[in-house]
Amino acid sequence: MALIVHKYGGTSMGSVERIRNVAKRVAKWHDAGHQIVVVPSAMSGETNRLLGLAKELSADPTPRELDMIAATGEQVSVGLLAIALQAIGKDAVSYAGWQVPIKTDSAYTKARISSIDDKKVKADLDAGRIVVITGFQGVDDLGNITTLGRGGSDTSAVAVAAALQAQECLIYTDVDGVYTTDPRVVTDARRLKTITFEEMLEMASLGSKVLQIRSVEFAGNYRMPTRVLSSLTDPLMPLEEEAASGTLISFEEDTNMEQATVTGIAFNRDEAKITVLCVPDRPGIAYQILGPVADANIEVDMIIQNQSVEGKTDFTFTVPRADYNKAMQVLQESVREHIGATNIVGDSKVSKVSVVGVGMRSHVGIASQMFRTLSEEGINIQMISTSEIKISVLIDEKYMELAVRALHKAFGLESA
Ligand code: ADP
Ligand code: ASP
Ligand code: MG
Repeated sequence: MALIVHKYGGTSMGSVERIRNVAKRVAKWHDAGHQIVVVPSAMSGETNRLLGLAKELSADPTPRELDMIAATGEQVSVGLLAIALQAIGKDAVSYAGWQVPIKTDSAYTKARISSIDDKKVKADLDAGRIVVITGFQGVDDLGNITTLGRGGSDTSAVAVAAALQAQECLIYTDVDGVYTTDPRVVTDARRLKTITFEEMLEMASLGSKVLQIRSVEFAGNYRMPTRVLSSLTDPLMPLEEEAASGTLISFEEDTNMEQATVTGIAFNRDEAKITVLCVPDRPGIAYQILGPVADANIEVDMIIQNQSVEGKTDFTFTVPRADYNKAMQVLQESVREHIGATNIVGDSKVSKVSVVGVGMRSHVGIASQMFRTLSEEGINIQMISTSEIKISVLIDEKYMELAVRALHKAFGLESA
């Protein structure tokens, strides 16, 4: 007998029929003698619908109220799933985040989990119940409802698994694992049997939304075995076969037997680029430009500063596209006045494409192969950033899919 956490995403919970299937699958695991905690997301489209309602009423709704609204999607899901389980004869109980409680800080819409109380859940499990806990939401010290950022149910599930010292966290979704790139963009993308924790962390942070980045961080911090697998298979398929399916996030670098130089390709459309032209090349300039941006709570990603000519240089950086207008506004106010830059220009139609792989550590020439492939497609590289296991380029968004397909092929990632 083991304690196992299952997470089901929006598509997996998308209709009464799908919820019935989830219940059958969960019941199968419980019948096999396991203790099961289930963490579902809202039904697909529901979080967008709820946030859309708020946006109809105000262009700038308060984050606290947005969380109040968005968190209801998951509350409906846990109630429905517990009822579906009861309807097939299982003892099941549903909890909202505040009932567990899953405690978070007060950073509405992007709260971080600070602690999870395991007492109530453990007591239920010991009494033979299946426990169904809302994904995505928590409660702060003052009792306010918070949410963990889009895609946050993954994080809820891995955090719950870590708090309960579960044997494994199974993330059921609408694809049958983690692929070399998003299989919706490259149809011959290949499923990976394992991916190292570091690679998964890079893929998630570079835009592969199959797992929320913080869920991968939790998996790493607590060494929680985490597997991504399909919820769309026959719910009554043999348990052993299901348990070995999908993609396992591994903590051993050399379990990546395939040892390809590049493991996967991630991309992110959610990028915007800003250039401050003709700034004086002297100490403190980067701080003077980026300080006000950070104060406005805007995350900066790639940064380049050119070689100066006659004491003047250009300074370019990227921000999330949703923060582009705000960042431009902040800069107009701060940079012009204090730095004397001649102009600020920007482009909100750029995308980032990244190649990721621990194999890069021991192979040279990956960057040049990447640049050659893009040049053969006539794609201009606007910015480059690298780390030990990834190379990212910023390009015009209209070439993003072309770039991903070309790189996927160039690095031989397609399925055989
Ligand atoms: P859920 O609702 O189950 O949380 P998500 O939509 O958040 O599902 O994540 C699953 C989706 O992630 C897939 O449908 C797929 O389009 C996308 N995705 C992006 N990159 C990858 C990748 N490398 N491997 C698998 N899926 C990916
Ligand atoms: N329902 C939330 C969202 O749509 C959380 C999740 O699905 O993981 O972002
Ligand atoms: Mg998701």
